[in-house]
Amino acid sequence: MDNKGILIVLSGFSGAGKGTVVKNILKEYNDYALSISATTRLPREGEVDGREYFFKTVEEFKDMIANDELIEYAQYVGNYYGTPRKYVEEQLAAGKNIILEIEIQGALNIKKMFPDAVLMFIMPPNAKELENRLRGRGTEDEATIMARLARASEESEGVEQYDYIVINDTVEECTERIHKIVIAEKMKASNNLNFINNIREELKVYSEGE
Ligand code: 5GP
Repeated sequence: MDNKGILIVLSGFSGAGKGTVVKNILKEYNDYALSISATTRLPREGEVDGREYFFKTVEEFKDMIANDELIEYAQYVGNYYGTPRKYVEEQLAAGKNIILEIEIQGALNIKKMFPDAVLMFIMPPNAKELENRLRGRGTEDEATIMARLARASEESEGVEQYDYIVINDTVEECTERIHKIVIAEKMKASNNLNFINNIREELKVYSEGE
């Protein structure tokens, strides 16, 4: 089979547990890599520059846009977020499945630029569960929680444009579902053109002998 990395775009309502699921994927399997985004939002408590995000000023972020250092960017609840180009390209070339944990506008832009990208939307089992998880995190004030729930309602509008809906009931099950999708994507004929051509070449020997 071809050794091509899959470009995975993971989105989900804020609080749906994406971050935990991504960490678990990286822990369970070693052929995945995570893209670290640049953002102009302030670090949350415990977040480290270069680990959760590259934290930038608006000026720095605009420079990155101008220098074509981002493959996509979007605004979300008043801040800029964008995906640095270099790391993604390196990891794909090395055959790793690269995960972009980004919101919907960015996801749809990626799909336009990279039609082979696999868009997955992680959903909580229901809306109340989403609110509970957001509050349980305890890192945001009430106004921010409400803004995020309102945005979630807006985002649910575009979800049918994703390739897959993955329910996050437990982290383990959600992780496994994502991995199974990736395994299936790797088996797509369109992702195995080299393999197909090689077999064709090998088979020619037989037809020539007829
Ligand atoms: P948070 O502030 O909660 O870390 O992220 C807010 C939203 O921005 C999430 O939906 C997250 O997936 C999204 N996001 C993070 N990085 C990027 C990025 O590089 N590009 C885009 N388009 N969205 C991002």
